[in-house]
Amino acid sequence: MKKFSVKTSARTEFVDITAEVAEAVTASGVTDGVVTVFIPHTTAGVQINENADPDVMRDIKVVLDEVVPWSNNYWHAEGNTAAHVKAAMMGASAQIIVEDGRMQLGTWQGIYFCEFDGPRQRTVWVKL
Ligand code: ZN
Repeated sequence: MKKFSVKTSARTEFVDITAEVAEAVTASGVTDGVVTVFIPHTTAGVQINENADPDVMRDIKVVLDEVVPWSNNYWHAEGNTAAHVKAAMMGASAQIIVEDGRMQLGTWQGIYFCEFDGPRQRTVWVKL
């Protein structure tokens, strides 16, 4: 398993980690299979979405903030319930098919680490 760090600088931030995952795929030597990207955190997640127009991720942030406000009638004493909910919505893992030694992502797809309780130092696990 390969691990790498992601340093976030805002409470909510989407970090394109496609290159780091691609590097892990190459380093593994696996030419045909599946790569799993796993986020070992409860207030961060991962999603595959458009990496051509950065406005898409900006708009996703706007929608998530609207649907899940930071303050509400939450009970969780740590005060970051919104981050837990958004992480649950994104999910903790993503799988991408690997063929001929390369991830088979769609033309406009990238892999995003989704921070919802930053800024923090985070970790991403990759397994083929
Ligand atoms: Zn919490």
